[in-house]
Amino acid sequence: MNLNSPVTYIKGVSVARAELLYAELGIRTCRDLLHLFPFRYIDKTQFYTISQLQPNSSEVQIVGKISGIKTVKQKRGSRLVATFTDATGSIELVWFKGAKWIKDSLKPNTPYVVYGKLNWYNNSASMPHPEMETVQAYKSKLQTAMQPVYPSTEKLANKGISHKVMRGMMQHLFQQFFNGIEESLPTYLLAEQQLIGKREALLNIHFPKNQELLAQAQHRLKFEELFYIQLQLLQKKLIRKAKIKGYVFGQVGTVFSDFYENHLPFNLTNAQKRVLKEIRKDVGTGAHMNRLLQGDVGSGKTIVALLTMLLAIDNGYQATIMAPTEILATQHYNGMVALLEHTDIEVALLTGSTKTKRRREIHSALEDGSLKILIGTHAILEDKVVFKNLGIAIIDEQHRFGVAQRSKLWKKGAEVIDGNPVPPHILVMTATPIPRTLAMSVYGDLDVSVIDELPPGRKDIKTVHRYDSHRLGVFKFLKDEIAKGRQVYVVYPLIQESEAMDYKDLMDGYESISREFPSPKYQISIVHGQMKPADKDYEMERFAKGDTQIMVATTVIEVGVNVPNASVMVIESAERFGLSQLHQLRGRVGRGAEQSYCILLSSYKLSSDGKTRLQTMVDTTDGFKIAEVDLKLRGPGNIMGTQQSGVLNLKIADVVKDSPILHLARQAAISVLNEDPGLQNPLNESLLKTFTQFQKKSGIWSNIS
Ligand code: ADP
Ligand code: MG
Repeated sequence: MNLNSPVTYIKGVSVARAELLYAELGIRTCRDLLHLFPFRYIDKTQFYTISQLQPNSSEVQIVGKISGIKTVKQKRGSRLVATFTDATGSIELVWFKGAKWIKDSLKPNTPYVVYGKLNWYNNSASMPHPEMETVQAYKSKLQTAMQPVYPSTEKLANKGISHKVMRGMMQHLFQQFFNGIEESLPTYLLAEQQLIGKREALLNIHFPKNQELLAQAQHRLKFEELFYIQLQLLQKKLIRKAKIKGYVFGQVGTVFSDFYENHLPFNLTNAQKRVLKEIRKDVGTGAHMNRLLQGDVGSGKTIVALLTMLLAIDNGYQATIMAPTEILATQHYNGMVALLEHTDIEVALLTGSTKTKRRREIHSALEDGSLKILIGTHAILEDKVVFKNLGIAIIDEQHRFGVAQRSKLWKKGAEVIDGNPVPPHILVMTATPIPRTLAMSVYGDLDVSVIDELPPGRKDIKTVHRYDSHRLGVFKFLKDEIAKGRQVYVVYPLIQESEAMDYKDLMDGYESISREFPSPKYQISIVHGQMKPADKDYEMERFAKGDTQIMVATTVIEVGVNVPNASVMVIESAERFGLSQLHQLRGRVGRGAEQSYCILLSSYKLSSDGKTRLQTMVDTTDGFKIAEVDLKLRGPGNIMGTQQSGVLNLKIADVVKDSPILHLARQAAISVLNEDPGLQNPLNESLLKTFTQFQKKSGIWSNIS
């Protein structure tokens, strides 16, 4: 009999109960039950004064006296209301049942201990059906400690596994198995991190003696949970770096230097220079680069991508950029062609709508190596596209690509070193800022570079929130801006579940804008997902050239599109967009020298999250701040890239709230691996054992990147 025995080994757990526990909570073994942590505690160790009570205090214990009592008639029967007072204030105690009996038993002017849940109404608290005893009676009893409350389900409760029964099972579990609980962190780490032992931690997470010990128990268990995740991520990275060879871009040659010295249209920002250095260091070593480049919209990732590609060419390799949409790929292509205008480097564009003849030309130029740079959509991934020697693949806005697509890219490398195929270096660029805490746990296996500085001279985008009824005022403003020579985006939501309706909204909107902005004075472009790529491009191009002043669109323009003269972004039904989408959309303006504006239109019906989203947009343009709010609103499970990773199935830690612990855990994991990469040191025996078990459980990791 040990912790891996089924829960039926615990006294009082019948086969029927065991089945219920498994069906409802996935608990099979004693160890599983041991790791079912309480989600709150009934704390009878602490006393509050009435002035300390807060709308978020739930169950509290107070000492005071009854200072008044009355019966209030209501529709059916009556309720009893007692005013309960201590030196700092008073609250109401309320009984809906048994009023008569209670009224007779309450003693005025006698100190009582009351315990119960608070209801808040208009900033004043009341406590329905409190538990009460006189202070005298309370003192004559043994002190009660904090009681755990476990996650439960309706079914469990209905079938008799109440909180009390659950607590009983836990108590038996501890009585029977306490000595079988093994330490899972090495002694030196416990000392270094000042952590309490595993047994003590588990005992106090279930039956805390006091708040202080509970906090220590939580800290220890959170640390352990995050530590093993980090250890796994870091070890995987070490293995990847040691095992997977990468092409060596050892030298800076004429292609790079000529461009850098003669054709660079601006000075790089310090952040761009730093990131470029980080990339060069990676690709120069013979290890494989797997790097995430984060940079807010407009921070200038494109030039970094280009310079990296030139470095590849200098070392005899080909390079490719893959973008998620045709519009974006085309724009990258046009941008690169312009930048490379005075060099003799050729660039080709490959998308779903590339004509067969051109396609064939591209295929053969890639195979014989005469074409050095290919830009495109996922058309690049087709098997027919074979590179002679692809040295680096750059992925723009990677959250649009699935893991499978990324691994296809991985296989486009051609060379074999020491019998192993060498994948191209991978640089993933994203404008969706991932809060650092999350990046560490989700992408802990990638290296991360951040461009945290915008090119000079950018003005902050003025953002306002207006209700639909102010639309006329907004139109007036647009006319003024257009009169100054500016251009305007008007964006409508397109959300898959209601596509037909959204489409109708877009068309209605287009019509009303056409009425408000009549031709020939005004010219309007429209772009949406149901148009043919060629038509989209045509419309985009008209807008980019300034032939049209207004671009009516769905979110297809969300990523990457760059028209510096466009200075106003109007977002219709803004409350229906997520924060990161709003931020991306806003990033379409503010790219030129002019003051830019973002106008968020919404109906009056706003959820509280909706309000927070719009207010956040009005308050800040900092992508990382926006990402933090987004994370708080939606929880980590909904942030890009995390769904598949399963990394956030945390039992006790919270990647947002516990980021300081995450940091400690990561540092600790780094130093453990530095000292003992193979975890062979006898001091790490318990660590290796726990780690091996942990890895067996989390197969998900193999999928990442
Ligand atoms: P993103 O990071 O969103 O892809 P881009 O690479 O499209 O940003 O750059 C946005 C704009 O800023 C482009 O017009 C680009 O030419 C310009 N830009 C980039 N870097 C600099 C710089 N160091 N100085 C001035 N302008 C820059
Ligand atoms: Mg970009």
